[in-house]
Amino acid sequence: MPAAGRRSADRRASIPPSEAPLSELLSNFVAGRWQAGNGAGTPLFDPVLGTELARVDAGGLDLRAAFDFAREQGGAALRALSYRERAAMLAAVVKVLQANRDAYYEIATANSGTVKNDSASDIDGGIYTLSTYAKLGEGLGDRRHLLDSEAARLGKDPLFQSQHVLVPTRGLALFINAFNFPGWGLWEKAAPALLSGVPVVVKPATATAWLTQRMVKDVVDAGVLPAGALSIVCGSSAGLLDQLQPFDVVSFTGSADTAALIRSHPAVAQRSVRVNIEADSLNSALLLPGEAAGGEAFELLVKEVAREMTQKSGQKCTAIRRVFVPQAVYDAAAAAIGARLAKTTVGNPRNDTVRMGALVGRAQLNSVREGLATLRAHTDLLHDGAAHALIDADPAVACCVGPTLLGTRAPAAAQQVHDVEVFGPVATLMPYGDLAEGLALVRRGQGSLAASLYGSDAIALAGAALELADSHGRVHVISPDVGAAHTGHGNVMPQSLHGGPGRAGGGEELGGLRALNFYHRRAAVQASTAVLSTLAPAPQA
Ligand code: NAP
Repeated sequence: MPAAGRRSADRRASIPPSEAPLSELLSNFVAGRWQAGNGAGTPLFDPVLGTELARVDAGGLDLRAAFDFAREQGGAALRALSYRERAAMLAAVVKVLQANRDAYYEIATANSGTVKNDSASDIDGGIYTLSTYAKLGEGLGDRRHLLDSEAARLGKDPLFQSQHVLVPTRGLALFINAFNFPGWGLWEKAAPALLSGVPVVVKPATATAWLTQRMVKDVVDAGVLPAGALSIVCGSSAGLLDQLQPFDVVSFTGSADTAALIRSHPAVAQRSVRVNIEADSLNSALLLPGEAAGGEAFELLVKEVAREMTQKSGQKCTAIRRVFVPQAVYDAAAAAIGARLAKTTVGNPRNDTVRMGALVGRAQLNSVREGLATLRAHTDLLHDGAAHALIDADPAVACCVGPTLLGTRAPAAAQQVHDVEVFGPVATLMPYGDLAEGLALVRRGQGSLAASLYGSDAIALAGAALELADSHGRVHVISPDVGAAHTGHGNVMPQSLHGGPGRAGGGEELGGLRALNFYHRRAAVQASTAVLSTLAPAPQA
């Protein structure tokens, strides 16, 4: 069984009906009504206490009717609105979510095992992303289509021209999401989709589906979206892709193994359903040559690496996995990062002294242990996560692990380090000779979501950023002048592109209004200047 399938099966150990506990079976919202699955359900657990929290089940749903309803009712209602009206709708969703934030934090603590700051990146990060798109959409005004560049003359006579237009796709957007961002993961995709006029069906990862389901429930109950604009299927993904039609789009976030299954599904391979893939990534941090141990750039790297390793227990697709420093400062970097990690308190997120909570579940814990063992065979142990005693948590039950820093002085030979993504608080430190070698080592990740560069020479930093731009969706450059102002290596900002080429899946999300492209179809209208002039937006009042 491929790794992704194995993890999913672990999470889904189904319960015989006779022993079914009394936890709530979360409903699905499809075809404009709440519908329970017809099975006993798959349990969701508290990864710290081990208790069962809720169950999900999508058995017996009429997915064809659900998708038709979203396309026909939701799509038509959304397309009837202007960008400005849809932006106002997003602003209304923001208000609903803000009013229910406390409940979301409780669910995140219980189901994701995250400390408050980590829950914030998911919950408030989602709200912030929605607000950003509400503002961007307001600026698009009262139109229902977009123009792509200027009209172009097709011949000598300027009378007949070609104007490219963007119109919302007349299908639905299916989101298949990963477990690590049940809040943000929905809204960073739904904001541009709904703003574009495209209805959404979300299938959250089973392990943490509760938060997504609760947010959707609050928004549906508040009545701020037209019927069919937002649907949720909790539980198995079985049959979802079979329902996709040519003008639908699918946006997937998760492992490379599942991504490969999606790419080869007939909906994509034969019906040309547009697909966006956000997969795994061996993101890097690199300290530029000439930066001294203990210098400002060095300290900024050390701080960021420790933060990236421990935020959300390293369960971030953008987290730093590989750290490259000039040979001369390798030992100093190992000591400095290790010293920071040693201060990380690990355990029950309900305890105020704890800085790093749990992994999301037992399957994830096993996967991290397995990955760590693989990397350990090719590296030295620079800081041992096992040295962290758990606070307020039973090591036999809690899915908590301390942060581990590995290192190798022979990075070119250690292929596993550039290949194996351990989705937990683990990173590997490596030395490089000259900058060309350092950049070549970064590229061994075969395409990543994010790389960060640390240095004090603006020209050298800009040059290195361009060198990495072809193999990364985002290059985050940290110089001492932005030491306090930068937004963080792993933080995905709605203004910037999220995605990466190659191994990272080849997808593109966010990036301001660029995100709307995925949900629009581009067509060339060839017509007289008089006809084309009527396509231009009316001047804003
Ligand atoms: P996963 O096993 O691939 O699951 C992702 C989603 O796919 C879940 O909703 C899962 O549902 C669903 N799924 C599983 N099998 C499927 C199938 N045959 N057809 C359709 N959908 C299917 O990934 P994961 O282990 O949850 O997530 C961790 C991975 O995601 C990491 O590798 C990480 O790098 C990557 N990730 C990437 C990004 C990014 O933006 N690039 C962000 C976050 C995470 P069930 O939960 O019900 O199995």
